[in-house]
Parts: sequence; structure tokens; C-alpha cells
Amino acid sequence: MDLVVRNASLPDGRRQIDIAIDQGRIAAVGERLAVNAAREIDAEGDLVTPPFVDAHFHMDATLSYGLPRVNRSGTLLEGISLWGELKPELTQDALIERAMQYCDWAVARGLLAIRSHVDICDDRLLAVEALLEVRRRVAPYLDLQLVAFPQDGILRSPTALANLKRAIGMGVDVVGGIPHFERTMAEGAASVRLLCEFAAERGLRVDMHCDESDDPMSRHIETLAFETQRLGLQGRVAGSHLTSMHSMDNYYVSKLLPLIAESGVAAIANPLINITLQGRHDSYPKRRGMTRVPELLAAGVDVAFGHDCVMDPWYGLGSGDMLEVAHMGLHVAQMTGQEAMHQCFLAVTETPARILGLEDYGIAPGCHADLVLLDAGSTVEAIRLRAARRMVIRRGQVVSESPRSRATLHLPGRPAATAFRLER
Ligand SMILES: [Zn+2]
Repeated sequence: MDLVVRNASLPDGRRQIDIAIDQGRIAAVGERLAVNAAREIDAEGDLVTPPFVDAHFHMDATLSYGLPRVNRSGTLLEGISLWGELKPELTQDALIERAMQYCDWAVARGLLAIRSHVDICDDRLLAVEALLEVRRRVAPYLDLQLVAFPQDGILRSPTALANLKRAIGMGVDVVGGIPHFERTMAEGAASVRLLCEFAAERGLRVDMHCDESDDPMSRHIETLAFETQRLGLQGRVAGSHLTSMHSMDNYYVSKLLPLIAESGVAAIANPLINITLQGRHDSYPKRRGMTRVPELLAAGVDVAFGHDCVMDPWYGLGSGDMLEVAHMGLHVAQMTGQEAMHQCFLAVTETPARILGLEDYGIAPGCHADLVLLDAGSTVEAIRLRAARRMVIRRGQVVSESPRSRATLHLPGRPAATAFRLER
């Protein structure tokens, strides 16, 4: 064996587990494995998880914070006008450099798979070319999946459809959309039909920005579920944001939830951004705006949490930490029950892996040897502490290391240090 990780706790609750790795894959998982390996890592009882997965991101805008100026008001509207000022100034080299830097942060956070939308409404398709280059460069250590995203509307923008087809032809993986931004409800529904038919024809996955609005009448998720079922796209379609569901009439939602579940459409909430941008037209009470996460889960729908933005015109915070995303999602959705907190961890690991269609993901024999050793004993403690990533392993190789979180104390009669973990 090349490597064995000993005495790990696993996300499913198993403890004192050894994981043997050979030639980039997991060879065996069990208690006290009798194997010799070139290298041994002692997890010391800490949590070892498959890597974090971000189901929703915008890598073409990331780390552009302050270019050409900062978003003073912190609002969506100023963010959109800022993006408009920045777009003509973008160069491919600078975009690649920022994306590569973000991928460094991601790896250091144990985030080894990202689905990024890329704006295809610029006729030069400069961002598409740049992110295809980034995808090629990071492939040895990070899976980058790209979504052709018509930011200005596939029907509303005169060149968007042709650009989207070109982007897919160049190698972009997934068909995107933004039905609530089309000119009318009918045009929004038409855009969903058109894009789903295109995806079905080409055998592609679909991920739309869908109903990112506080308007309770924004019901494009209904059309997305219907078209998914009609075209046999079950398990390959995701609705991102779905924030209008927060504001919808409860009776209508009681009809909608089973339709979504039946269609096999997954939901992707973006807690950091949804709690920041939604409800902005409200006085008090102020809506939270995140979609109905516990209710979707209870209906049997896959729900993932995405980061959406890091240091871009819309959001000046973030560092690629999916535990911060899970932490916010847990709070906004009030998912404080034991099982619910664990589900928030799955929403940034297993569930998005399934939505992206990642192959051989997990901790079982035959899976890729992609692992993260956390400075925490359980999934809930990992979220509580936004735990340090002691080690990040990709295909059996250690690609990043961080020290445990520990503070030295200078207090009379108290211990010399604390690690923020309950000692029992
Ligand atoms: Zn987005």
C-alpha cells in the first residue's frame, strides 16, 4: 500500500477506522487493517471525510473585489452595475490568475470539486476560454465543472443562445439558465423548455438560476420540474437558489414539493448570498429568503449548499470554506436538530457530489483516495468550529496541510492552551 490513514472517525459515525490507499484509490476500509504502507498518517480519532464539493459558484468573478471599485452599499443592484463596469476591462490572464488563486484557497479548505457558472453573454466568450484553461490546469487536483450561464437572459439577450451553443461546443459541461430574468413569465417558461430540450438532445446536465426572487409568483421551478420529467432528465437537473419558494403560498407549495421530488430535480441553496440579498425590499418583518430546505429534504429532494460568491462585486467576504457555508445554512434554516445538523454537512459533501455526477466519490474500496482530515471529532463539531483542515489528500497524495486550531493561554491557574474542543 502507498498510504494508510489510521484511527479515523467517519461522517457516518464509524470510529477507529483505518483507510488503506493504493495507486490513488481506496483499497480497504476497516478496523485495525493488517497492512503495510509506505506512509502512515495517524488521524488521532479525528474526522476523515470525502472532500467538500461546491455545487454553485461564479469563478469568472471571484477575487475581483475592489475592481474597479468596491461595492459601497453592499446591494445586489450596485453589484450588477459594478459587474457591468468590470466586464469590458476583463483580460483573460487576470481572470485566470484570480481563478487559480481561488483554487489554491479551495484546495487548502479541502474543497476539491466546484461547479462554476460562467457568463456567456459576452460575445468574445473570454471568460469561457479562461475557465476552460483553468479547468485544464487544475484537473490533477480539483474537479471543475462549468455551466454555460446566460446572465442577461437566453431570450432577452439577442446573442445569448448562439453563445451558449458555442460555449457547449468548446467543452462547457452543463446548460444554465435564468428564467426569472426573462421579460415575462411566459418567456421564462419558454426559456426553461428550450434549454431543457437542448440539454436532452445533447445528453447534458442542467443547472438554472431559478426564481432567485422574493416574488411569490415566480414559479419557474414548476416548469423546470415538468420539463425534467417530460424529457426523462431525472437526476440530471438542478434548480439553483429557488428563493421565491420562501415567499410562496403554503397551499401551492404543498402541491409543488411532490412535483419536484417526482421529477428528480435537485435544489441548491446559497445561504450566505440568499440571506444577504433577499428580503431587501422588506421593512420589518424582513424575510430570510432562503428556499425551504428542511421541507425539500423531508419530501426526498436532494439539497446542496453552494458558496455562490467570494470577494466579487456582489459579496466582499468568504474564503472557499464550505463549513462556513454549512454553518450559515444551518442557522438560516434553523436546522439545529441532531440529524438536521448532520444533513447540513452532507449538503456540502455527499449531496453535491451526487448532483455534479462525480464518479467514485466516497470512503469505500474502489473510490478515489480523496480525503480531508479535520481538526474535529464529528460532522457537527466540524461545522461548529469551521474546523482546520489538518490534511487534504487527492488521489493518495497530501496536497495541503494546516495546523490544528489552538491558542496558548497565559492565565493564572488555568491550562496552558485551549483547542476549543470539549474535553471529557
Ligand atoms: Zn449564482
